[in-house]
Amino acid sequence: MALYLKRAGHRVTVFERFDEPKPVGSGLILQPTGLTVLADLGLLDDILALGSRIDRLHGADASTGRTVLDVRYDAQHGGRFGLAVHRAALFGVLFRAAQREAIAIETGVEVEALETGERTTLICGNGRRAGPFDLVVDASGSRSKLRRSVSAPCEPRPLTYGAFWASLGWRGEGFDEHALLQRYDKASVMIGVLPIGRPEPGAEKMAAFFWSLKPSDAEEVRARGLDAWKERVVRLWPQSQAYTSQIDSFDQLSLARYGHHTMKRPVGRRLAIIGDAAHSTSPQLGQGANMALLDAAALGHALARTLNVEAALDAYARARRWHVRIFQALSLAFTPFYQSDSVALPFIRDRLVATVAKIPPAPQFLASMVAGTVIDPFKRIGLEETRWNFGQNPGHDTTAS
Ligand SMILES: Cc1cc2nc3c(=O)[nH]c(=O)nc-3n(C[C@H](O)[C@H](O)[C@H](O)COP(=O)(O)OP(=O)(O)OC[C@H]3O[C@@H](n4cnc5c(N)ncnc54)[C@H](O)[C@@H]3O)c2cc1C
Repeated sequence: MALYLKRAGHRVTVFERFDEPKPVGSGLILQPTGLTVLADLGLLDDILALGSRIDRLHGADASTGRTVLDVRYDAQHGGRFGLAVHRAALFGVLFRAAQREAIAIETGVEVEALETGERTTLICGNGRRAGPFDLVVDASGSRSKLRRSVSAPCEPRPLTYGAFWASLGWRGEGFDEHALLQRYDKASVMIGVLPIGRPEPGAEKMAAFFWSLKPSDAEEVRARGLDAWKERVVRLWPQSQAYTSQIDSFDQLSLARYGHHTMKRPVGRRLAIIGDAAHSTSPQLGQGANMALLDAAALGHALARTLNVEAALDAYARARRWHVRIFQALSLAFTPFYQSDSVALPFIRDRLVATVAKIPPAPQFLASMVAGTVIDPFKRIGLEETRWNFGQNPGHDTTAS
């Protein structure tokens, strides 16, 4: 967001509560939506050089090996793919761009609230006041404190399942460098391996490894010991030993908790709310970071089209309204098929859905759901989707237009 604003000639200050800017967490998939925004910012080549191209999402039942999910980006025309990245890679590309543009970043500042009159002042943790500003953009994630200042309160509802995540060295044997692979046991167990490329140029290739569980069970799992947990994982997916063998302590596993909320109107007076602060969900559909990038592009382009802040805020809210709502609803509907205590839903998933998913137009629909394009997110923002020429994408010499 800061890049869009700075390049449009505004004076920008980023406030971050960490003492130094740094990435948090493991890997994620940049979809054609997020990649288009990075292309709009001129950062596509930088991120393509680090990530791992993903062509396919494949999931199998752990006990029978039967395929229950097989989504291929190329079920639709356009040469689309995902790009799985280490969070440090995405952070590094954006942070270096912010440094090149000399964007002011103030660290160690906990933003608590705001005061809005003709302009807006930030109230920070140590009693410090920052501003006044013409516009505050709240990009502080799902635990945002600033969204309280917008009329209808809307806080995330905790989801039953979360996950242990780790970033580990990439091991290719039995794994596909261009696929997210998952194993399921009903919906209570989901194990995944996602190749995520390199955190920085020259570093070793890595994978994100995850094991879904209820955060409330995490203590019990830890108490039973690492070996018991590793044995259980390997029993369900023998090849995953290539990854569990790299884990020597529970400290290598971060416990991620998921919540779900969607703000009806993510704007207030001289305030725009973007990313997880405006809408959070489980990462089952892999859209969150991409939605945050689309939000930033929508707001950036809306501000560039008008000098009137209120009109731009209105245009931002309208541009993102349906795309956000539809994907939040899809995420809420699909997550329990993969992460819940239900016996019926995974039964339906493994029998009915797995069969129906092969019959057109289901493969095309699933591809556009993963790509983030079930409804066109670009037109209302004023963006043109990055298109790839056949045979010319990462792994096959890149060109994009
Ligand atoms: C395990 C896991 C896997 C995921 N996988 C995917 C995926 O494959 N694809 C995908 O698109 N998305 C994925 N997501 C979702 C994605 O991580 C989020 O949607 C994305 O990070 C949201 O970005 P954001 O900038 O809105 O918020 P955040 O990434 O949460 O960033 C918020 C920033 O604000 C700072 N901050 C917070 N509060 C304050 C405060 N009061 N004052 C000052 N600074 C503050 C924080 O320190 C942080 O730097 C996943 C999420 C998880 C947990």
